[in-house]
This record gives sequence, structure tokens and C-alpha cells, in this order.
Amino acid sequence: MPEQHDDHFATRLSHLARPGTRVHGFVNPPLHRGSTVLVPSTAARRESWKHRYDQYLTYGLHGNETHHALENLIADIEGGTRCQVVSSGLAANCIALLAYLRHGEHCLIPDSVYGPVRSFCDGVLAGRMAVEVGYYRPDLAPAELEALVRPNTRVLYLESPGSHTFEIQDVPALAALARRRGLKVLMDNTWGLHFFQPFRHGVDVSIQALTKYAGGHADVLLGSIVTRSDEDWRAVRQTALLYGQYASPDDCWLTLRGLRTLNVRLRQQMASGLEVARWFAARPEVLRVLHPALPGAPGHDIWRRDFDGACSLFGVVFRPEFGETRIDAMIDALRLFGIGASWGGFESLALPTYGSVVRTAAPLDLGGPAVRFHVGLEEPADLIADLERAFGRLHEGAGPA
Ligand SMILES: *Cc1c(COP(=O)(O)O)cnc(C)c1O
Repeated sequence: MPEQHDDHFATRLSHLARPGTRVHGFVNPPLHRGSTVLVPSTAARRESWKHRYDQYLTYGLHGNETHHALENLIADIEGGTRCQVVSSGLAANCIALLAYLRHGEHCLIPDSVYGPVRSFCDGVLAGRMAVEVGYYRPDLAPAELEALVRPNTRVLYLESPGSHTFEIQDVPALAALARRRGLKVLMDNTWGLHFFQPFRHGVDVSIQALTKYAGGHADVLLGSIVTRSDEDWRAVRQTALLYGQYASPDDCWLTLRGLRTLNVRLRQQMASGLEVARWFAARPEVLRVLHPALPGAPGHDIWRRDFDGACSLFGVVFRPEFGETRIDAMIDALRLFGIGASWGGFESLALPTYGSVVRTAAPLDLGGPAVRFHVGLEEPADLIADLERAFGRLHEGAGPA
């Protein structure tokens, strides 16, 4: 269980999960690897097996001290009590859904859900388990969403802001509705990280792709599922064990190392991200910037009320006269922005989202082609100079300049 304390976020990141300081003097905890766990007697073996839902060393698959150190730190920064790490962010999403849904039940999924989660819902939940999957517009008011709740609805799934379109959901209001109707609230809090405290806003289970800012160096794939009640912990832990879920201790150790610098990285990336986002917003080629921390962006008021920071991932919608071919040419001309999907590292990224974003509850109309940008730890002035130069490509060739 996480330790009790009143320290600030930055201090906790530096001081939690460091048994090494008390064992051999090293600043960092040791890295444990292993499958077999030897016990001193058959009685001890029987006893240890009873504790496989706890932080007990029973079998490698059930986790060791390297997993537990990371799990306790993640539970702490999200304000929960227990955490299960799994092999990827996507695995965390899937295990959390599987923990609560059975044949014939219904779940509500936001239309802006991370694409591979949609594929899991369609391919496994609906396709193989006969779970009914209903997609809802992420900006629905609670009363409108309530109309979609059925007698067999079990799960209300949230992701705020939404993938690619960055809608901010009114989590407290939606969670209150879920509580009234007896639904479990599962939330993908990858963007919100510690800026959004899911359990303070009524969420039951918080999911994160630690692959992103927590790892922070584009070299790890890892997911976490955090709970606060014993009942939710048992559901999640049992499902993870039934599916043989495991996370590499090396990746856990690297993520723990990444977390030591999370606060400074996040603060820098939030500032740099806003600087670059404001530059986009002032450009005539840009129709709008989908960055929840920018006044006028969709959901900005709710973001101000519920979040105390923003990460550096946001969308840029170009005016429709700048067609996809010219935007492709602009992206290809960037020197400092990689073209790639997994964000949260130290490097900046640009990803065209036109043609690849699926919406089924309501057609997607952003007003023009959109590109998702991730701002890394480079100097913002260099990134802006790179963008300035690449924006020249938008004006090459036929058509309006
Ligand atoms: C990246 C991402 C995931 C999946 O994480 P992986 O570790 O890459 O599987 C899940 N949800 C959101 C919102 C993400 O951005």
C-alpha cells in the first residue's frame, strides 16, 4: 500500500519507491527478475498462495518488488490505493474492460476513444463475447447520456480529453450519473496523468499508458490499472492473473527511473507545448487549435475547473483550402518533428490524423484536415523555426496562397 504523507508531487516522485536507500545505500532500488520463487517449506508455500492478490512473492508472474515499487508510486500519484501494471497501455484498457463485462451486458464507450480500444471493443467484446458496445458522443450532457443507459449497462468508459479530437468530458457529472445508475466508471487517464485526479472526480478505475510521459523516453511499453476499493482491486487483479498478464521488470525499472524526472519534464513540456500551440493559433493557415488549456478550445472551461495542468499533446486543424497533399508535404519537410504515434517522450512528433480517425456515434467534422502534435524537450524557438520553414510548403503549388 502507498505510504501516507503530505508531500508535494515533485517530492513524492523523488522519494517514494526507494527501498534501496534503506537496504544497501544505493539511491535506486535493485532490479529483480525471476519466475521461480523458492519458499522455505510446504506450509509457507500454501500460505503464500493465499496472498496472490497482495504484494507477496508467490510466483514471478504475480509480480516482484520491482513491480510493487512502481505500482505503489503510480497508485500514489493518481490518488488510488492499488495498482496493477501490465504489458502495455492497451493491455491495461482491455483488462479493465474484461474485469467488468460479461456476455449479454452493455458498455458505453466514448466515440473519441483511443483507436485500438475501439478495435478491442468491436473485435473482442462485441465480436466474440456478445457484449453490447454503445459509442456515445464524448461531449454529451449527462441527461443525454442517461438516455443511452440500458437495464444491462455495466460500464461507463471515459477518456478525457479524447484521442485526436481532445474533447474534455465532464467527469464529475458523468460519474454522478453512473453512480445513480449503478455503473462502473473506467477512465483512460493517460493524457491527464497527475493533472487530473480521477478518484476525486468519481472514477472507479483509472487506466494509464505508462508508455507515454511516465516512461518518458520512448523506450518502454507499459500500462497501469489503479483502483481505490477492495472490490475493484479484486476484480482487476483477478482478471489480470486469469489472462496471464505480466510486465517486464526491466520496463518497470526504467519507468520508475523515468518518473523521477516526470515533474520537471511535464512542466517544461506544458510550457513549450503552450508556446507552440499559441504560435499555431496565430497562423492564418490554421483554423483552430485543439489544446484544452487554450481559451476558446473545446472543453476549456471544464479543463480549468478539473485539471491543474496540461501535457504537450494537442491537435491543429488547418483551413480546408490547405488540402491533405500540401499538409503531407509540410509534415515531410519538418526536421525536428518525427512522424510517429507514441507520444510522451523527449522528442517532438507530428502525426496526420486525416483519413485515419474513426467515429460512429456522430460524423467527425473538425472543419479541415487535422494534425496531432507532440512537443518534446527541444527549445521551442527551434521547433517554431522548423514549423515556420515547413509551413512554406503549404503555399507551394496551385490553389490559394
Ligand atoms: C498510447 C495510448 C494507449 C496505449 O498505450 P500503449 O502502451 O502504446 O499500448 C492507451 N490510451 C491512450 C489514450 C493512449 O494515448
